Amino acid sequence: MKRNFESIKRLVIKVGTSTLILPNGKINLESIDGLAFVISTLMNRGVDVILVSSGAMGFGLNVLDKDKRPKEIDQQQAISSVGQVAMMSLYTQMFNHYRTTVSQVLLTRDVVEYPESLRNVTNSIESLLKMRIVPIINENDAISVDEMDHQTKFGDNDRLSAVVAGFTQADLLIMLSDIDGLYDKNPNIYDDAVLRSYVPEITEEIWQSAGGAGSKFGTGGMRSKIKSAQMMFDVGGQMILMNGKDPRQMLKALSGEPIGTYFASEVTRDDNH
Ligand code: ADP
Repeated sequence: MKRNFESIKRLVIKVGTSTLILPNGKINLESIDGLAFVISTLMNRGVDVILVSSGAMGFGLNVLDKDKRPKEIDQQQAISSVGQVAMMSLYTQMFNHYRTTVSQVLLTRDVVEYPESLRNVTNSIESLLKMRIVPIINENDAISVDEMDHQTKFGDNDRLSAVVAGFTQADLLIMLSDIDGLYDKNPNIYDDAVLRSYVPEITEEIWQSAGGAGSKFGTGGMRSKIKSAQMMFDVGGQMILMNGKDPRQMLKALSGEPIGTYFASEVTRDDNH
């Protein structure tokens, strides 16, 4: 499937802790600079870009000089709330370098479930983009607790990014991960795993390749990425899953180079209009 992103007007980029924080707990300045460069470049070209960024916990551990995430939820929340400020402060500096202004939007699940608050947040994001300001979105960790709390929590930022792409009517979601894309089986277990370049629909085989239905262990977060791809298909959007280690590769991917895994149905939102 030929990739052509020339008509993309609005893009959500999801970045995870593995891209922002080095294995030794230090901040990955190179990748954050790359993100700021790519997003600023795209904004200057007239594309709307929304960044969904995890990393508050990683930044918080870094600021407080702790090497392990505490078990207690209230402590995790406290550390994330320290880290969120540190992360936004660094984003502000890095984006400033490229003359781009950023803003922070913190969401909880109930915000998108109630029509009034959903309308409010949608309006805020629209206004920011009109002003050519990049909304940087994260879950409000001081309020949302663990993944079992369905009242307040989205589950994870893979899901949050697809939800955001849905209500902002983004054409494309780029998901940056610690892996090059979706393989036909877990490449951390199987040496002969093959990268899939194009996925036209989420079949049972695709679910199986990410660990199999109902599997809880050893699957990494690939199932939640596939779920996000399904959510993008459901709204007529597309998704690219690619490695976040060099965010500048996103510009190549957007110029049509076969980087990562491209999730798009044969009939996309563009063809419908
Ligand atoms: P990130 O936090 O960077 O978003 P995740 O850990 O959530 O990454 O998900 C990526 C991981 O999913 C990979 O590192 C890999 O261990 C695992 N995985 C399981 N099955 C597959 C597959 N079929 N293709 C690629 N990765 C897979």
